Amino acid sequence: MAEVSRRRFLALAAAAPIGLRGGGGAHVPAIVVGSGFGGSVAALRLGQAGVDVLLLERGKLWPHDDHAQVFGSESSIDRRMLWFQLLANYPGLPAVPMIPYPGVMQVDVQPGITVLAASCVGGGSVVYTGVTLQPPRRYFERLYPSGLSYTELDRVYFPRVRAMLSAQTVPEEVYNSAPFTHTRVFDAQFAAAGLPVERTPSTFDWQVVRRELAGQVRPSAIVGESSFGNSNGAKHDLTRNYLPAALATGHVRLGALHEVTSIRREAGRYALAVTRRDEDGLTVEQLELTCDRLVLATGSINTTRLLVAARDSGALPGLNEHVGTNWGSNGDAFVFRPYTGPVGPSQAAPIVSTAMVDQGYPVPIRAESAAVSLPGQQPVLHQLSIAVDMDNRGVWRSGLGGQVGLNWQASQSDPALRSALALSERVGGTTGVGSAAATAHPVGGCPIGAATDLAGRVHGCPGLYVLDSSLIPGNVGGANPALTVSALAERAMDQIVQAGG
Ligand SMILES: Cc1cc2nc3c(=O)[nH]c(=O)nc-3n(C[C@H](O)[C@H](O)[C@H](O)COP(=O)(O)OP(=O)(O)OC[C@H]3O[C@@H](n4cnc5c(N)ncnc54)[C@H](O)[C@@H]3O)c2cc1C
Repeated sequence: MAEVSRRRFLALAAAAPIGLRGGGGAHVPAIVVGSGFGGSVAALRLGQAGVDVLLLERGKLWPHDDHAQVFGSESSIDRRMLWFQLLANYPGLPAVPMIPYPGVMQVDVQPGITVLAASCVGGGSVVYTGVTLQPPRRYFERLYPSGLSYTELDRVYFPRVRAMLSAQTVPEEVYNSAPFTHTRVFDAQFAAAGLPVERTPSTFDWQVVRRELAGQVRPSAIVGESSFGNSNGAKHDLTRNYLPAALATGHVRLGALHEVTSIRREAGRYALAVTRRDEDGLTVEQLELTCDRLVLATGSINTTRLLVAARDSGALPGLNEHVGTNWGSNGDAFVFRPYTGPVGPSQAAPIVSTAMVDQGYPVPIRAESAAVSLPGQQPVLHQLSIAVDMDNRGVWRSGLGGQVGLNWQASQSDPALRSALALSERVGGTTGVGSAAATAHPVGGCPIGAATDLAGRVHGCPGLYVLDSSLIPGNVGGANPALTVSALAERAMDQIVQAGG
């Protein structure tokens, strides 16, 4: 696929979206909502098939700059980091007051768990840590419907997505650099405990990281920045691959700062209520858009919310009882353990090492070497743990005033947290401090093969598709979600385009 320059992408993205030129409302053949992993795949493949697509995204398109600080960060907290908050409520950060703003991260506080989700053009690819892992076959085949072939994903779709995202393991000299000292310590600890460590494919752009190490651009990845964006473009995020390719087809138009607030079925079409905002987050207008085909890719919590609300209000009465179910935290647990040896001048953000531990704990567990994202030497190691929890699931339901909320007990995270702490103690020889009160990996709510068919076609709603992390059956199966979400979307789009639907 021909590479599209950043300049051309920005010019294409700035063009007025199809159907929005006159304001008020419009009808378009197809709308994709959400420009993260699932939505970007859908937009590209529909555009290549010659379908005119409007891609609606609630967040901003953020620039990159080699030297300026475009995003906020853990060490300079500001409103650019959070989606409409009055007080910073990101776990672990001080509650700094701020003016509500369309920042890059939604922090959704639910009973029993706080959920993190991206809110910008490129979705999770802008704020994630770049880990591009596939789940092991042994867990995938226990979790997903039997009609989904792991062999096919392994041969066709995981490699296709890794290639599109330029996922590579860390180069040796970068791994051996000072900001990756904490990772080398993590690897040595696991090896000493007899647990094999592997290198993870990552979508960090190692050329940019090399330039950071050489002092040629403002340091970002090497000082622990990632979760609120890398100002110098240190990741191969979706604004560098799928999205420019989609816009370059000439069939896809991007509407940033357009939030879909409700969906209904009317006269054989889907009608969307949309709030358009300006760059400061002020509402410019309310639109109503209609389409024949609708792809929802707003991520696990937002797709689930929109659909549960639509079903329970009667706006999409065909949705079945599985919508809202099989939601999970992907077994996320964050453990910090003291370490008094050298950890480097700062801890680089890219996660490049991982160990999958199948036995010996309440649930199988994947540990990843994450950073303590603060400047300077920090005498602490951060182990991100992802548990293969087959049982604990939440349900999204409508409540008072039609608000959709999550039913999840804090105790449902216990197996993941206990496993993570015990593993950390085994490898580190010291008790760490852990929490599973938040998840960066929400999955499920519109489970594949139950709420939809195996290509994301929503049961009971012709022309409606879900192609995002809400398809995942409550747990990825021993991996971070992005690769699996994208691979399932690629597989679905092949089938949808072939079927001419
Ligand atoms: C800090 C952090 C680190 C992470 N690290 C990793 C990692 O290393 N590897 C990995 O695999 N995963 C990681 N993840 C998880 C990963 O980002 C998600 O699993 C993935 O992005 C989900 O893809 P998606 O397509 O479902 O949704 P997203 O990528 O979240 O995209 C959804 C998009 O829809 C938009 N949207 C939402 N609601 C609306 C609306 N109503 N109207 C219009 N637009 C809307 C959002 O703004 C967003 O852009 C991380 C997540 C976080 C928060």
